[in-house]
Amino acid sequence: MLVPIDSIIAGAIDGASADLRKISLAIHDNPELSLEEENSCRVLVDYLESKGFKVERNIAGLQTAFISTYASPAGRHGLHVGFCSEYDALPGIGHGCGHNLIAISGVAMLLAVSQVMEKCRIPGTVRLFGTPAEEAFGGKITMYDKGAFDGTDLLLMLHPAPGYTGQWHSQCCLSMEVEYFGKSSHAAMAPWDGINAGTAANIALLTMGALREQLKPDWRSHGIITNGGQAVNIIPDYSQIKYTIRTSWTDELAVLRERTLRVFESAALATGCTHKVTEEFMYLDNLDNPVLGQLYEEIMESEYHRPPERGVGGSTDFGNLSHKFISLHGMYDLAGTRVPNHSAEFTSDARTEEAHTRTLFAAKTVARIAARCLVDGGFWEQVKRAHEERQHSSGKT
Ligand SMILES: [Zn+2]
Ligand SMILES: [Zn+2]
Repeated sequence: MLVPIDSIIAGAIDGASADLRKISLAIHDNPELSLEEENSCRVLVDYLESKGFKVERNIAGLQTAFISTYASPAGRHGLHVGFCSEYDALPGIGHGCGHNLIAISGVAMLLAVSQVMEKCRIPGTVRLFGTPAEEAFGGKITMYDKGAFDGTDLLLMLHPAPGYTGQWHSQCCLSMEVEYFGKSSHAAMAPWDGINAGTAANIALLTMGALREQLKPDWRSHGIITNGGQAVNIIPDYSQIKYTIRTSWTDELAVLRERTLRVFESAALATGCTHKVTEEFMYLDNLDNPVLGQLYEEIMESEYHRPPERGVGGSTDFGNLSHKFISLHGMYDLAGTRVPNHSAEFTSDARTEEAHTRTLFAAKTVARIAARCLVDGGFWEQVKRAHEERQHSSGKT
């Protein structure tokens, strides 16, 4: 091998930096909600096609999903590596989760690993999965169910955060819609004739708040009223809540789910409403791979001279994939400001040059880890063993 793999990776990613910055800003400045990411998807696909990559669109019935594939000229008999890009934004605060950066990190890693395969004549394939709707609905779950990830040996992605870690055990989460149905009436003339669905929604949230005393420290419970009535002088005959519960492990999620459903029912009983609960989507916990995670953290620590942070909190639809595939969900420090995701400050940080530089460093790190799996059989065996051990111990507290 004439050129070291790390230099090929650095050259590929640094060489694309200016283009990636343009793509990142185009996505950031035009934030699109889950399943509406038409421009973001188009910008990414256009760039990949301009670089000669084959791209399939409209994957698993999702118009804003895509798969870009590179097959090594040395043959397809090696590992099948995949990276994920996300590009959906949040209502009100835009790219407060930095998915514009996740989008370009996936492209960067595809460029880097495809060049490693080509220049070092390493067999295998590398694919970039454009995965929409992470913030709502779980695009990766739909894609997995329809077989989009079939044949993948190793799946990797990056996510900006207040700190870095390669061993993030995310929370399982269940998101629900709750509707209460009552009876309208004049709020002053005949309130006793009404059945107040708005009151049911309030009682539900207050009771969930009271229940919080009995929740474990790593459980989460949070919701908003999305429809509390139409006018102050009409007793609301309809209300709607969006609610999410989270735990570290799936057996605990089942316990919290039962208790939550009882609370929703009790609010209906107390007010005389009827109610309906729709379970919208469920993300599994992320099964981290300690071998991949430790290598990621070693490289990040050597750059940033700070220890990793494996804090509790947050969920991802990548968790569902981590139960099926050997995977790495690398978190990296966005700006050194320790600002949490889903805030207006994070949205501004996700647009800075500093964030861009950190994203590219993290992308080089993960590309190096993917390349190590491709060329180092002993390391790959350790990674596989670690995955099997995690699968055996998953789901239990
Ligand atoms: Zn996110
Ligand atoms: Zn998010």
